[in-house]
Amino acid sequence: MADSPEKNLMDKIISLAKRRGFIYQGSEIYGGLAGVYDFGPHGVELLNNLKREWWDECVSTRENWYGLDSGMFKNPRVWEASGHTKGFSDPLAECRKCNTRIRVDKALEAIGLMADEKMGEEEINTLFDAHRKEIVCEKCGAHDFSPVKKFNLLVKSNLGDFTSDGDEPVYLPGEACQGIYLNFKNVVDSMHPKIPFGIAQIGKAFRNEISPRNFIFRCREFEQADTQLFIKPNENKEAYEVLKQERMNWYLSLGIRKENLRFKQHENLAFYAKDAWDIEYCYPWGFDELEGIHDRSDYDLTQHQKFSGNDLRFNDSETGEKYIPWILETSMGMGRLFLAVLTDAYKEDEMNGEIRTYLKFNYKIAPVKVAVFPLLKNKPELVAKAREVYLQIKKVIPQALWDDNGNIGKRYRRQDEIGTPYCVTIDFDTLDNQTVTVRDRDTGTQQRIPIGDLEDYLKTN
Ligand code: ATP
Repeated sequence: MADSPEKNLMDKIISLAKRRGFIYQGSEIYGGLAGVYDFGPHGVELLNNLKREWWDECVSTRENWYGLDSGMFKNPRVWEASGHTKGFSDPLAECRKCNTRIRVDKALEAIGLMADEKMGEEEINTLFDAHRKEIVCEKCGAHDFSPVKKFNLLVKSNLGDFTSDGDEPVYLPGEACQGIYLNFKNVVDSMHPKIPFGIAQIGKAFRNEISPRNFIFRCREFEQADTQLFIKPNENKEAYEVLKQERMNWYLSLGIRKENLRFKQHENLAFYAKDAWDIEYCYPWGFDELEGIHDRSDYDLTQHQKFSGNDLRFNDSETGEKYIPWILETSMGMGRLFLAVLTDAYKEDEMNGEIRTYLKFNYKIAPVKVAVFPLLKNKPELVAKAREVYLQIKKVIPQALWDDNGNIGKRYRRQDEIGTPYCVTIDFDTLDNQTVTVRDRDTGTQQRIPIGDLEDYLKTN
């Protein structure tokens, strides 16, 4: 991507995200911490809007779907049962010249080869050795790498380790969904759902990613929005297709352009999986994974039943049978969604003879729905009227913003850059006839609207 139009776009998005309070590098004043980002004032509003949309889609508007918020720390047995302590690893090699670490599976993928997750160290080393010359260190250009090692991605903590000689760490979650499996029985016992039913949760995940990259796309700390649909054994095929379509339609409903979304089927499946597809978004560097949709059979609950010794079978009151339900899972990275909507909304055009940048967010996800300002900030009567209008709007549209910094042109530019769909200006005519101008972000056109009609206008346009 070096100095390409794609890198250029990525740089512009990163710069705007920082300048306008969407995303900051984590611990920036100490030189940062690789793979960790903080969401700024507009960023957290956008993030919360996206979470609310997801929650409405996956929980609130559905029958038989239940929300959950499980604790991050879990009994260490959980990660044994899930296979993470043994199998949750990426193959790593280190450049002998500059010590840069690379993910070998991604490097092989880039030259059209597949390093299967199931491959052991020896097998990957053989494949890597055969193609060493084609793999270049992205930092210094050398081809000289150490042997490949499999590196476990779980992040250890010292929770409860008061003696410091504890050899069994409590891990931070490598994926958020385990909390759903652990509470499966609790939810069944307290909510008495009929099968099929779903459990959804948004939760943090931590991975010791070898090379965090592409801004918030690959981080060491991130959030996942997961759903697990519990179904009768063997009733997976049709439900899986429905789920895939529902997820794709949801992305479209956020205003993401269709041509920037696609499905991609996994070539290599885990031994228990029946099928697996990703929804990919076309990021500035090309199509890449946004969400995984997995047909997982009865693997997860069977493992937890085995390791915990608890009966996790579902008592089907309709058929009188007891069985371990099969699971259809969806898992989306909130940060990856955030970056997708930011990329999709990023626009440049020419307005009044000047190049302007704006974010064409769909109204429902825009972090600020409407900005209100007095035409001039040194006219007390205009400021007083504008404050009155602003407070009236803010009561019904909480994501309304007061802005009286700089001249009107600067305010429009700033609001365009954070994707505010409407700007309302209070001028001298307002004092005479109780009308305001409403300026549309996308077209720059302005309309005079009676103050009494503002709420309806903003909500319905
Ligand atoms: P990848 O192949 O990109 O490493 P994955 O297949 O390991 O991702 P899953 O374990 O299926 O990802 O996780 C589900 C979702 O969580 C992914 O689709 C992605 O949106 C998100 N995700 C995974 N790893 C990261 C990360 N390091 N940073 C941000 N989001 C992530």
